[in-house]
Amino acid sequence: MSNRTLNLDDALYGYLLDVSLREHPLLSELRAATQNHPHRNMQIAPEQGQFMAMLIRLMGAHRTLEIGVFTGYSTLAVALVLPEEGRMVVCDVNSEYTAIARDYWQRAGVADKIDLRLAPALETLNALVAEGQAGTFDFVFIDADKANYDAYYEHSLQLLHPGGLIVIDNVLWSGRVAHPEERDDADTRALHDLNKKLHHDERIDLSMLPIGDGLTLARKR
Ligand code: SAM
Ligand code: CA
Repeated sequence: MSNRTLNLDDALYGYLLDVSLREHPLLSELRAATQNHPHRNMQIAPEQGQFMAMLIRLMGAHRTLEIGVFTGYSTLAVALVLPEEGRMVVCDVNSEYTAIARDYWQRAGVADKIDLRLAPALETLNALVAEGQAGTFDFVFIDADKANYDAYYEHSLQLLHPGGLIVIDNVLWSGRVAHPEERDDADTRALHDLNKKLHHDERIDLSMLPIGDGLTLARKR
């Protein structure tokens, strides 16, 4: 028995997936298709998608925002469990990656729930605020360029209503954030600085989970 989080070796990680993963067939197909992509490591882990879907259901979320779509796995995991009238605004800059995403959203019958904005995410977030959508979102997933994470976090806080949730990916960054000598690049520094900032940010309730590459939950107070 252990009272600290386990290190998952391949056998234990395989076991976790074996006894708990319930992946929609199109999510499985998208994951397999993305295995051949040069940037396949950008895709979230399947148990993380399932966890985010659980959060959406627990919260009864209707309006969600996603920053960083890639081939659309996290979007699809959320869209599949959103109610019929649920809506997602999702941000990316890459039309090649998101063409794959759109194909899977269509095939899954959830494309009508998803408003893909192809532009730098900060432009989209500013536009949402300008359109009067501050305080209207239930859930935000941040998973794009790390240097902008702090700006994404601040905009997300504006766009959420109190009780809404921000989920931030890659907060443990393959472990690099824990080693001062490895915080020598802008991405690692940005993640570390945001982690430190959130620790004492009184605007949120906080939980950091060692799922995937590290996932922070920040609930707006
Ligand atoms: N959530 C995705 C999934 O489950 O597969 C993975 C997202 S991937 C880690 C990051 C994405 O952010 C890429 O598709 C990239 O094109 C996009 N991106 C990078 N810089 C961006 C920016 N400034 N604005 C919007 N999207 C950006
Ligand atoms: Ca990620």
